[in-house]
Order: sequence, then structure tokens, then C-alpha cells
Amino acid sequence: MINFEFKKSLGQNFINDENIIDKIVKYATVDKDTLVIEVGPGAGVLSKKIIPLSGYTVLYEIDTRLKEILNNTLSGNDNYEIIYNDVLEQNVKEDISKFNYKKIYVVANLPYYITTPIITKLIEEINPDKIVIMIQEEVADRLCATVGSKEYAMITVSLGSKYDIKKLFRVSRNCFTPAPNVDSAVISLDKHDKYDIKDIVFFDKFIKDAFKFKRKNLRNNLKGYDLTRIEDILNKNKYSLSDRAEIIPISLFVDIANSLSK
Ligand code: SAM
Repeated sequence: MINFEFKKSLGQNFINDENIIDKIVKYATVDKDTLVIEVGPGAGVLSKKIIPLSGYTVLYEIDTRLKEILNNTLSGNDNYEIIYNDVLEQNVKEDISKFNYKKIYVVANLPYYITTPIITKLIEEINPDKIVIMIQEEVADRLCATVGSKEYAMITVSLGSKYDIKKLFRVSRNCFTPAPNVDSAVISLDKHDKYDIKDIVFFDKFIKDAFKFKRKNLRNNLKGYDLTRIEDILNKNKYSLSDRAEIIPISLFVDIANSLSK
């Protein structure tokens, strides 16, 4: 392994198992028509396999100490660019505006302390066609949760309304250097257009409110909305205002939000 002082505060747990990298690469299905975004290349173990397959890859790495290692690992490739900054501070849309591409994918082993902000930002800003990421297993289970389970949350509905989300495989904490305190999972998000959401900003605010207090029912969480109209749609679908958001399927959230934003 490289001689490097890992920073826990930057979520620096590098993959040390080549099989895991190969599986991520296989599931990512990157080709020459794909512009890839990788957040947190670290020492470049994943990047060096993804870049040659891609049309172009844009990488974001916050830690400039990795410059030399990355330059060495990725030498021989000319279709990539590394932006050394906090990805959350970058205007990713602007960064990629100069490229022509047919598809845009995100492929990454994300820093766990900011997984959700990164996913949310990238979806909002660049609307990727596909995302294949390694994240903490607990978060993966929340994103892939089925309706009615205790993991089903606002983020499940928000992402599920735009993407088909699959847990691809688990990764033991021992596959990282240094080993984190949690296990991980690789998930894929494939963009779909199952739902015709009229006003995405309203939809996201509506589901945020519906899930606001976990123990409260819809009547309490949705005070301030047109409860008569909501109740009517819920009743037609055999639900009621006394139910909690965790049992409401995504399609029904879409119907209600579309009706309210008319
Ligand atoms: N991809 C490498 C691997 O799989 O071995 C490293 C993954 S490590 C879990 C996360 C990486 O994200 C680290 O290299 C860390 O420096 C970088 N990172 C952390 N916070 C970041 C941020 N806000 N913006 C960009 N990169 C970040």
C-alpha cells in the first residue's frame, strides 16, 4: 500500500481489494460515449480502470497531497481532468459544460461523511443517467428501502421518484485501508421517467414535510397543506391522514403533490 497519512476527517478509507474494483467497473458499464464524474479518487485505484473505458472523466479530489500519487497512477491517459477542491463547492454543471457526451455517469467510492449531500447535489446539478457508488451499508439500505419498512425515508422517495435504485453487493470493512467502523455496499441508480412530476421543487418540499416528524402521522406533518384534497386522494387509494409517510408508495406521493401543485 502507498505511503500516505490517511485523514479520517476526509473519509479516507481506500479500497485494497482488486476484486471489488473490478466488480464496480463491471456494473458501471462505462463506454466511450460516457462522461464520467468521480468524486474522491484517492490513490486512483478505481479511476485508473474507469478512465480508459470512458470518453472523458472529471475527478474531484479535496486532498492536494494526493496530486503526485494520482499523476503517477493515471499517467498514460489523456482523457481526464482532476479538480482539486471540495466537490460541494464546485459548480459541476459549469465544469462539464465544455464537453460533448451522450451519457453522464457518476462512479465513485464516496467519502461517507457527506454521501447524501454529494448525491443530492449531483442529481440536482447534472441529472446523471446512471450512478454506481460505494456508500455505507446503512445508507444504502435506506436508499433501497421498500415502502412500509423502517428504513423507508424521505430520501428513498426523493431518489426513487427519479431513479431505479439497486443494492448490488456488500463490501466488508476489511476491504479498506484503514478499515472503517462500518460495512459498505455498492448501489446503482438508473434514471427512469416512470413519474410525471409537475413541480419537482414542490414535490421535494412536500415529501420533506410528510416525513418531517417520524412518529407523527400525515395529518400532523402536513398542516398548512390542503388536507381535504390530500384526504380525498389517500382515501381513494385506501390510505388515510392517520397513516404515516413510511407506508405511502412513491406513486401516491406523486399523485398528491401533482394534484396540490395544479
Ligand atoms: N476512490 C478511492 C478508493 O476507492 O480507494 C478513495 C475513496 S475514499 C472513501 C474518499 C475520497 O474522497 C478520499 O480520497 C477523500 O480525500 C475524498 N474527499 C473527501 N471529501 C471530499 C470532498 N468534499 N470533495 C472531493 N473529495 C473528497
